[in-house]
Amino acid sequence: MDLKYVQTTCPYCGTGCSFNLVVKDGKVVGTQPYKRSPVNEGKVCPKGTYAHEFVNSPDRLTKPLIKKDGKFVEATWDEAYDLIAQKFKSYKPDEIACLSSARVSNEENYLLMKLARGVFKTRHVDHCARLCHASTVAGLAASFGSGAMTNSILDIAESKCVFVIGSNTFEQHPLIGRKIVQAKLNGAKVIVFDPRYTPTAKQADLYASFYSGTDVAILNCLMGEIIRNGWEDKEWVSKRAKGYEELKATVLKDDYLPENVEKISGIPAADLKTAAEWIGNAESTALLYSMGITQHTVGVDNVKSTANLQMLTGNIGKRGGGVNALRGQNNVQGACDMGCLPVVFTGYQKVIDEAVHKKFADAWGFPDGICEPKNGYEVTVMFNVLTDNPGELKAMYIMGENPMLSDPDLTHAEHALEQLEFLVVQDIFLTETAQHADVVLPASCYAEKEGTQTSTERRVQMWRTAQDPPGEAKVDWQILCEVAAAMGYAAQFPYQSAEEIFNEIAKVTPSYAGMNYERLNRPEALHWPCPSVDHPGTPILHIGKCSHPDGMGVMHPIEWKPPAEVPDAEYPYILTTGRCIWHWHTGSMTRRSETLDNEVPTGWIEINTEDAKELGIANKEMVRASSRRGSVEVEAKVTDEIKKGVMFMPFHFAECAANVLTNNALDPIAKIPEFKACAVKVEKITEA
Ligand code: SF4
Repeated sequence: MDLKYVQTTCPYCGTGCSFNLVVKDGKVVGTQPYKRSPVNEGKVCPKGTYAHEFVNSPDRLTKPLIKKDGKFVEATWDEAYDLIAQKFKSYKPDEIACLSSARVSNEENYLLMKLARGVFKTRHVDHCARLCHASTVAGLAASFGSGAMTNSILDIAESKCVFVIGSNTFEQHPLIGRKIVQAKLNGAKVIVFDPRYTPTAKQADLYASFYSGTDVAILNCLMGEIIRNGWEDKEWVSKRAKGYEELKATVLKDDYLPENVEKISGIPAADLKTAAEWIGNAESTALLYSMGITQHTVGVDNVKSTANLQMLTGNIGKRGGGVNALRGQNNVQGACDMGCLPVVFTGYQKVIDEAVHKKFADAWGFPDGICEPKNGYEVTVMFNVLTDNPGELKAMYIMGENPMLSDPDLTHAEHALEQLEFLVVQDIFLTETAQHADVVLPASCYAEKEGTQTSTERRVQMWRTAQDPPGEAKVDWQILCEVAAAMGYAAQFPYQSAEEIFNEIAKVTPSYAGMNYERLNRPEALHWPCPSVDHPGTPILHIGKCSHPDGMGVMHPIEWKPPAEVPDAEYPYILTTGRCIWHWHTGSMTRRSETLDNEVPTGWIEINTEDAKELGIANKEMVRASSRRGSVEVEAKVTDEIKKGVMFMPFHFAECAANVLTNNALDPIAKIPEFKACAVKVEKITEA
C-alpha cells in the first residue's frame, strides 16, 4: 500500500486553513491535521474535515461533452477545442463574456483573464465576487485606497473589542470565529448585531437583532453617540482623515439618535448606546463583516460606513483594529487580485489607464493586440443585457461558476442563459449551469493541481497535487492554454507549470512582485502587498498612512436608504439568505460529500415563532414561500432565533432554491444584488 500526506489549503471558505490530504494508492481518502499553519494550527471545521469526500465522487466529469440535438454526447478534447475555436472566432470581441472562478487558483484566474482580454479580446470578464464582496472592493478602495481586509486573522485575537455586523462568523468562517473566542478569553467585549440569533450571536456579550437593510442607520447612530460623548480618536481624525466635518454633520442628525434608530432597526436604544460606549472606549476594536453588509443595493454605502466608524475611532492601521471584510470563498480575494473584474488588470491596475493597458499589451505580446482600454460588463449586467438587449452578447465561457443557483432571481438567470448562442462551461461536475452549456470541459479540483490561492486576509498560500484528475479530466490552467492554442495563440500561453504562470503574475503585479513559490512554500506564506523579494509581506494595511496617493483616509457622509423592496400587504415579510456550516454555496461539492449531506440533506425557511403562529404554520411543515419573482416549496423551521417579520433561507439547495425569490436590484456602483432583503409571503400548502 502506498500512503502519503500532502499538505494543502482548504477549498471552501476564505479563512485559508491548511490540512494534510491522506493519499492511499494514488487516491485522496481523508484529511489529517497540519499543525504548522498559523491560521488554524491544525484545527478545521466540518467542511475542512470532509474536504476529501467529493474529490472522487462518481459524479465527477471525466470526458468533454458536446450538446447535440439537446443531449450531451461524449467527445474528444480535440473535437471540443475545435468547436470552441470555430465558434469563438466567429464572434466580435464585445459579443463574448467570460466568468472566472473563486474556486480555482490564482494562476488559473490569471490565465482566464488573459484568455478573455488577449485571445477573445473582450472587455467583459467578471466572477462571483460581484455577488459577494464587490461592495467591499469599491467601498474600501474609496475609503482607504485599497479594497481588501485591512488586518490579519491572527490580529483579531489581539483585539479588545470585536464588533460583528453582517457576519455569522462561527458558521461561515469557523476558524476566524476561533480568533473571536481567543479575543474574548483575553478580555475583549464581543458585540454581534444580526437579524438571526446565530451561533456567532450566542458568543456575544451584547447581541441585538435588527431588520435587514438598516445597517447605515445603525452605524451612523453609533458614530453620533461616539462624537456626542467625545469618544472619537481626535488625533487620528485630524491627522489622517478627510471629510470629518461632513460625516459629523450627517451622523449627528436627529434621524440617527438612538431612539429614532430603534424605530428603523429594531435595536433597543439602550443597546445602541452600550455598543457605542464599548467601541468608543476600547483600546482597540476589530470590526468584522461579511455579506450581511455587502449584499444590498446600498452595499457600498454600508461598507463605507464601517470604514467611517473605524477611522473615527482610530482603528485603522492598528493592531487589534481594522475593517475585517471576511471574503466568502477560498480564492475570491485572489480572483479579484488577478484582474477577473471588468475594470482592472491584476493588482487593481485600471483597464482604462492607457499606461497600464500598454504595459499588459507589451508583456503579453499578442501580435494583434488585446481588448480595448474600456471597462466591461459586470456579471449582473451581463445577465441583464442578455435579457434586455438580445443579440448584444452571444457567447460565454464560464469556468467554475454556477450562476444558475447563485444568481438572484433564477428565472431571470435561466432566461438570460437561454439567450446565448454558445456557452462553454469548464467545471468538475455537471452543475445546474453546465446543463445549459453547448460544450462542457471536465476540469480538476483543488486536490489535483499545484497553484496558489489568496485568503481573505491577503495571505497567498499553496495547493499541492495529491492525485491525478479523474478519467480524461485536465488541470484548469492546461485547458486554458489548450483553448488559447486552438485559437492560434499557443506562443502567448507557453507555460509548462503553474509556477511559470505565477512568475509572470509577479512580474506584472506590484503587490505580488516579491512572491515566488520558494517563499510561499513556508507555513506562514506571505500577505500582499509584498513588493520585493526581501519584503516580509504586509499583515496589517494602512499603518501610518492609507493607500490613497495622499496617504489620507476618506470619510463619507452617508444617509440611510431602505432596501429596494420592502414588505407590504401582499408580501409582508423580509427574506434574507445565507449559508449553513455544513454546506458550501451552490452545494456542488458539499452535497456530494456524504457526511456533510447526511447532516443537512435539504433546505428550510426560518420563521419566527409568533409569525408562524399567525400564519398557522407548524415546525417542519412544508410551506410555499413566494416573492414577486417566483415560488418555492420548502420546509418551515419555526424558531425564536430570528426576528419577527424576518425570514431566512440558505441558498445551497436547488430543490428549494432561495434565489428563485431574491431580488435582482443592484447597488448602483458595485452592481451587487440585494440578496439580503426582499419581500416575501409564506403560505401553508393546502391539498388540492
Ligand atoms: Fe476550510 Fe474555512 Fe473550515 Fe477553515 S474554516 S476548514 S478554510 S471551510
